[in-house]
Amino acid sequence: MENKLDFTQRRVLVTAGAAGIGLAIATAFKDLGASVFVTDINPAAVEAARKAGFAAAVSDVSDESQVIELAATVSKELGGLDVLVNNAGIAGPTGPVETLDAEAWKATFDVNVHGQFYCIKHLLPLLRKGSEASIVNLSSAAGRLGMAGRSPYSASKWAVIGLTKTLSIELGDERIRVNAICPGAVNGPRIEAVIKAKADMLDRPLEEVSNLYHRQSSLNQLAEPGDIADMAVFLSSSLARSVNGQAMAVDGNTEKLY
Ligand code: NAD
Repeated sequence: MENKLDFTQRRVLVTAGAAGIGLAIATAFKDLGASVFVTDINPAAVEAARKAGFAAAVSDVSDESQVIELAATVSKELGGLDVLVNNAGIAGPTGPVETLDAEAWKATFDVNVHGQFYCIKHLLPLLRKGSEASIVNLSSAAGRLGMAGRSPYSASKWAVIGLTKTLSIELGDERIRVNAICPGAVNGPRIEAVIKAKADMLDRPLEEVSNLYHRQSSLNQLAEPGDIADMAVFLSSSLARSVNGQAMAVDGNTEKLY
């Protein structure tokens, strides 16, 4: 029987893949036999990823010239590309909209939206030559719901859905599938910082806000990084050969964000 999760002949790039959700995604593909390249802005994390057996390079996805260089390095080291996971994304500033700094707003879009555009634009020539090519863009539950106090983040993650839907049509004829993942709150240091910023903004006890974040999922739990990795693997596998242009929620059913 065909193993639809066989990645032994497939080459995968995960942006911001040296820590957090990105590292879980990179590890899941590697465990299924893929050749995995990770890139991250943090040199120490990239060094650790190299030691863990990944091909890796330091790169800031919000800088187009660095992404052009990254595409050349991936081409040389992997010999091509079949799967691009646009995972890099920053939380952006927290606060009522009139208090937000314009530069911090723009920086959120630079990473979360422009970074995905640069990576898709410059890695597409490799994906076009790849097999069963798949692009997976990390959006968020905040990419389908509003999130008070996080307007730049939410707006940027809605933009990711627009990019995904549009490119799934543009590239569908070429059999390059483009999908998004919308995680809810995911266990890890990032969500702890987000909860602290929200508690500070609301001037509420940390524990109270933390409880709200846990309970916003119908499962009353945070997702784990591995849950997001499983969805990235599914979307890039032949199990999902007819799945295109979708925004897949991995949030235990979240109806409202705090
Ligand atoms: P994180 O904040 O833990 O960061 C992971 C990595 O991103 C770090 O190693 C960091 O160095 C790297 N990075 C930051 N800016 C970069 C840049 N410009 N170029 C390259 N690398 C960069 O993030 P995470 O929690 O693992 O989130 C991963 C993705 O999932 C993001 O797109 C995020 O918006 C999305 N997401 C996360 C959650 C959550 O609860 N953590 C929820 C929904 C969506």
